[in-house]
Amino acid sequence: MYDANYLASRLRGARVGAEDAPFLRNHQTGETVSYGAFFANAEKMAAVLIAGGLEPGDRVAVQAPKTQAMLELYVGTVLAGGVFLPLNTAYTAAELSYFLGDASPRVLVCDPQRQEELAPIAADCGVAEVLTIAADETGTLVERRDAQSAGFEPVAREADDLAAILYTSGTTGRSKGAMLTHRGLASNSETLKKYWHFTKDDVLIHALPIFHTHGLFVASNITLMAGSSCIFMAGFDADAILGYMPEATVLMGVPTFYVRLAQMDGLAEAAKGMRLFISGSAPLLAETHDRWRAITGHSILERYGMTETNMNTSNPYEGDRRAGSVGFPLPGIEVIVTDPSSGRELPQGEIGVLEVRGPNVFSGYWQMPEKTAEELRENGYFVTGDLGRIDEDGYVHIVGRSKDLIITGGYNVYPKEIELLIDDLPGVNESAVIGLPHPDFGEGVVAVVVPEPGAELNEEQIRAGIAPDLAKFKQPKKVIIVGELPRNSMGKVQKKALREDYSDLFS
Ligand code: AMP
Repeated sequence: MYDANYLASRLRGARVGAEDAPFLRNHQTGETVSYGAFFANAEKMAAVLIAGGLEPGDRVAVQAPKTQAMLELYVGTVLAGGVFLPLNTAYTAAELSYFLGDASPRVLVCDPQRQEELAPIAADCGVAEVLTIAADETGTLVERRDAQSAGFEPVAREADDLAAILYTSGTTGRSKGAMLTHRGLASNSETLKKYWHFTKDDVLIHALPIFHTHGLFVASNITLMAGSSCIFMAGFDADAILGYMPEATVLMGVPTFYVRLAQMDGLAEAAKGMRLFISGSAPLLAETHDRWRAITGHSILERYGMTETNMNTSNPYEGDRRAGSVGFPLPGIEVIVTDPSSGRELPQGEIGVLEVRGPNVFSGYWQMPEKTAEELRENGYFVTGDLGRIDEDGYVHIVGRSKDLIITGGYNVYPKEIELLIDDLPGVNESAVIGLPHPDFGEGVVAVVVPEPGAELNEEQIRAGIAPDLAKFKQPKKVIIVGELPRNSMGKVQKKALREDYSDLFS
């Protein structure tokens, strides 16, 4: 009966007729929810939305704790023909007012603790209704769900209809709403399911947030489409993850998950039965990759994707998973490297802007036709803004964001090249290289360095350590030693914050 709804039919497909098959084990409640029970609730969520007047294409905005109910609401929104619009739980009321004003959703679902603060903002933005989901799986939306009777006929939706809008993290300028279609989401998860060999026997440790492409689409869609099950955790908890490993097969994480887990006693034993460790959303340090392999015997599989495209590349399932590389373009997806100024394709090996084409690519930015035209070429390629190269074996390497490119005295400097050298020095944990306004050079290269716990480092040691390997113009004019780098909730280093903190270093 889901046939008419392009994405929902695929999310449901693997377990039709196997109603008792386990889908989700809720870390918080300890309960295991079957496919039948999960979809029954998702259908009731859809019925609540329709009863509230939702029309096909209407947005359902959600800023709520990660719960089973929120995942039901995602599937319920798709079933109801709506467009799911999850928002980072860290956003403030002022930020929310931008998103609600821009996307004009029909409904806002929020944490009951924020309802009083958000209701007037929602009303100002023309949102018809505010409902709640709390961290403990209660709330007005959950009450309404439970008051519905079973049986919902999914609303028909075609491949090109929107299923979700995800706002980009907005590191420059205003956050943009990436419009994601039924086809885009379904095709990417289908590809990844095959590429990573997901089956009904898999048990995924699901500890990523579900307001982001990684936890919502990569983790949740693949689990559903493969008919696998997951251990569903509200957030990262190293002890609990280690405890679950013996019953699980796959972990998906951001690099910080792996850094923290690698410090835990008992990891080698716990990881014995695991099949696959996947990392993405931010660069995985080669050191973390090597350390993990030394402890567990597993090579972490690193992949590369973004809000606008879902996943683009992956290291191989079978074959060499190379530290510092994000692997090969996924089947059906093309990746090219182009010159930042002319847009022309560059020869293999050269560094330039990564562009991506395939069914995974979004259909544009919500109500921003000029931005869409700037970044989505007529030939179908999306200009990612990531700088990278493709090596002689076809592996893609990311060397930074195009906006992180430093131009000093007219020379281009790729921060990653310097970071790799610094990270290799004894006593260095990690580093971030940025360009700061400089009166002579336009921008001056600055390295911000985090020592390993207990290590003593100074500026001179860093300079001397990298000097033999770097052209003079690439060498940092200043080295700053700090306790840690600023990161967002997906583990990405916030270079923008660093640039702001030290903006007048050379003035
Ligand atoms: P988001 O849209 O929040 O998922 O962020 C996407 C960005 O994260 C990409 O454009 C890359 O800059 C970065 N990213 C994602 N995966 C990786 C990876 N494996 N290595 C390096 N950067 C990554």
